[in-house]
Amino acid sequence: KDTARSTRAPALVSVHGLTKSFGRPGNEIHVLRNVDLEVADGELLVLLGPSGCGKTTLLRSLVGLERPDSGRIHIGGSCVLDTARGVFVQPNRRDVGMVFQNYALWPHMKVRKNVAYPLQSRGHSAALKGGRVEEVLDIVQCGHLADRYPPELSGGQQQRVSLARALAPRPTLLLLDEPLSNLDALLRVELRAQLRLLHRELGFTAVHVTHDQEEAIALGTRVAVMNAGRIEQVGDPIEVYRAPATEYVADFLGARNRLELRAEDGGVALAGQRLPGLARDDLRGSFALRLRDEHLLVRPTADDISSPASHATTATATAWLADGRIVELLPGIETSECVVEIGDLRLFARIPTGAMDLRPGQSVEVGFPIDKARCYSQDHGRLVP
Ligand code: ATP
Repeated sequence: KDTARSTRAPALVSVHGLTKSFGRPGNEIHVLRNVDLEVADGELLVLLGPSGCGKTTLLRSLVGLERPDSGRIHIGGSCVLDTARGVFVQPNRRDVGMVFQNYALWPHMKVRKNVAYPLQSRGHSAALKGGRVEEVLDIVQCGHLADRYPPELSGGQQQRVSLARALAPRPTLLLLDEPLSNLDALLRVELRAQLRLLHRELGFTAVHVTHDQEEAIALGTRVAVMNAGRIEQVGDPIEVYRAPATEYVADFLGARNRLELRAEDGGVALAGQRLPGLARDDLRGSFALRLRDEHLLVRPTADDISSPASHATTATATAWLADGRIVELLPGIETSECVVEIGDLRLFARIPTGAMDLRPGQSVEVGFPIDKARCYSQDHGRLVP
């Protein structure tokens, strides 16, 4: 559910019924399957999905580099695509800037000229004379690089120049196609923060494509999760993470613990053990009735593991299972991963590094925070209401 909808600005971009296939008739790959999407003024919408799900094709359709088979696109009040009426506005006539994954700077032009090019080709001579090139280069902290050629720049610098080039004409809509994916991990996190800051300061409207979940949650004012040419869920990033609408979204956003519940004498059992203190009626409505067919997904968190008998004060909404054994500890800088076995069940928990004294082989109890758990039907992977 998109709770932000009522408070958001009116849609600046709207996409309706977009479809696109590649390949010969009879042997097509359906890359976009009836995509509907709205982006509000000032929003930084992140399109998140695995490789090949159609993210780039959707961006290329927005900028006009791809001709969809059917559908409509409006940007800033003008119709740039309507296949039913034969409307297709050429890319250079759309008010859209794009930053490509490989930056796509012209290697034989100096940085200054690269950034000036879209202003020249769109006839923004006043902006050129008024120092817009220098202004956007300063914004991305590359003013000192204006007289260099792109091959003389680092990856991070090229990325910034490419962003400056896209921002220079002040487009209605900015498209970013995995602009951070070719950078090393530290630089990626730094530029992510700078992009977020720039977005706040300049207030542009953007669609940012990534397959990186952390990046999506850190950057997006909203996130749209794509699956095989369809948008599966759109919403506030934290809401999508905490309340994924489908099992696919939950999986893609890193829910690792998938548990099969069994109804047993009015109670609930997991891995052959009754979940103590949890009656079948504690689980809401259809959840309890269709228990046998459901999966329960619990996100790995530190709170859910403890030494036996040390959890006496925790909330009753947590059901505890005994006889867990730590089989593996994978250290990390901030968080470490702990793998626990209970019978045939293998569970994952993330623990702040150094916060608990855990060792492989140690006995633990594992708690299931029932209020945080999500329940999905096995047939369709949809969230059970
Ligand atoms: P990635 O993250 O790997 O870039 P993506 O989600 O952006 O993936 P797209 O680049 O949109 O995905 O591609 C979706 C599918 O369409 C892929 O299977 C791809 O091979 C196919 N595809 C894209 N462009 C063409 C084309 N011009 N001709 C044929 N198939 C294409």
